[in-house]
Amino acid sequence: MHYESTRGGLKSVLSAEAIKQGIAPDGGLFVPEKKVKFSMDEIKSFAGMNYRERAVHILKPYLTDYSDEEIKDCVYSAYTEEKFGHPGIAPLYRLNENVNILELWHGPTCAFKDMALQILPHFLVKAVRKTGESSEIVILVATSGDTGKAALEGFKDVDGTRIIVFFPENGVSLVQKMQMVTQEGKNVYSIGVEGNFDDAQNGVKAIFTDDALKIKMEANRFRFSSANSINWGRLVPQIVYYFSAYADMINNGEIQAGDKINIVVPTGNFGNILAAFYAMEMGLPVNRLICASNDNNVLTDFINTGVYDRNREFKRTISPSMDILISSNLERLLFELTDHDSTYIVKWMNQLKNDGRYTVDPDIHKKISNIFWSDFSTEVETLKTIEAIYKEYKYVIDTHTAVGVDVYDKYVISTGDMTKTVIASTASPFKFNASVVKAILGEDALKDRNEFELLDILSKECSLTIPEGLKDLDKRTVKHKIVCSSSDMKQQVEKLLGI
Ligand SMILES: *Cc1c(COP(=O)(O)O)cnc(C)c1O
Repeated sequence: MHYESTRGGLKSVLSAEAIKQGIAPDGGLFVPEKKVKFSMDEIKSFAGMNYRERAVHILKPYLTDYSDEEIKDCVYSAYTEEKFGHPGIAPLYRLNENVNILELWHGPTCAFKDMALQILPHFLVKAVRKTGESSEIVILVATSGDTGKAALEGFKDVDGTRIIVFFPENGVSLVQKMQMVTQEGKNVYSIGVEGNFDDAQNGVKAIFTDDALKIKMEANRFRFSSANSINWGRLVPQIVYYFSAYADMINNGEIQAGDKINIVVPTGNFGNILAAFYAMEMGLPVNRLICASNDNNVLTDFINTGVYDRNREFKRTISPSMDILISSNLERLLFELTDHDSTYIVKWMNQLKNDGRYTVDPDIHKKISNIFWSDFSTEVETLKTIEAIYKEYKYVIDTHTAVGVDVYDKYVISTGDMTKTVIASTASPFKFNASVVKAILGEDALKDRNEFELLDILSKECSLTIPEGLKDLDKRTVKHKIVCSSSDMKQQVEKLLGI
């Protein structure tokens, strides 16, 4: 498979090259040149496979420059029962007759980012070897909280790589921050940025496209790559679990091969839901993709009107991993829906950069409306949803998942559609425990307690075990203490690399 840039400045690199570069040199995102299609027989055959076997089968057509052995090696190193604490890796929880919750948070850092970031370092190390690269790879990450930890954990002590993570100093939960600043490993750095996620992301993008810095890096035998969801190597493993969920539903007798399902995804950077879109393009029978936003509802407005407008107040919410106003991966969707016409993409992305907004053509908006449905969940609604689901089912969901569940309820009320539905559950409730405890036990339960004490409260109330990755976080040594402004990020990188 060859990949091209959404901005049209680069054609036909192989997957190893696309994964190594992360972002295309023209500032665009890599997209596969051709469509991959699975027959219904193939999709049905996934029912007889375990998660790893499904992953190998689905990844193959996208990574044609990797041998079968190499793909197997990546998959079997990443998706172990030991790391994911569950034989299903991404198991379904049947909430009721119509709804299955796809639990994507059984990995080591308790959020769905592990599904991709446990395997990306394996893809990358092989990509480096394949492309004859001799420089050390420097992974730069901007994170709204969960990606950073998952990337640090995935890349720690991986030979030939270093990783630098930038997180909004005051925009992540205490648990998320402690996860990052206590990270162990000889090649890892995490840095707090004064500002929000968009500031951190823009800072990283500016570093990636800084030509003078690139020359300096090359001279010192370093090369940047990205572990953000703009890297194709992060997106492609996310396609797997949508097919896997479908196969599990066949096995559970809930659907027959060929039946359509709805997929609901709580969305921030548009990565996870884009993977569902690719699965649909590949032949997964999907009725609607439901895009769930929080109060930062720029995507809801876009899907409903065709106008993308980031000129609005940035809100800090209880689902912070979705607090994003510039959803990078939307660029890939638009490229697909314009049949790979980069002139549109360049125009819209320039308008976004200069005016903070763009309007897609009516025919493109029509395509979007036929595939996607979108709404958002307010803070109060999100908390109410956690409480209601716990009361009715004794099942505990985190704030991000609750956004998905609430928007799904709105979808059913608005459309009456009773198609069987999969809701992506993107984090363990322990990861955002303060809001979850507040929703279930009331505001008083938070009084004089920090997030670490609340882990115990939640565990006792709901008879759930605290995940290994979150236990005793407050007792670990803080190893990373740097905080900088977004304009200072480049200097910090140079300093850490000694260039
Ligand atoms: C990253 C994240 C999201 C948003 O996913 P995108 O791929 O950026 O849309 C939602 N929930 C949680 C818990 C996350 O960590």
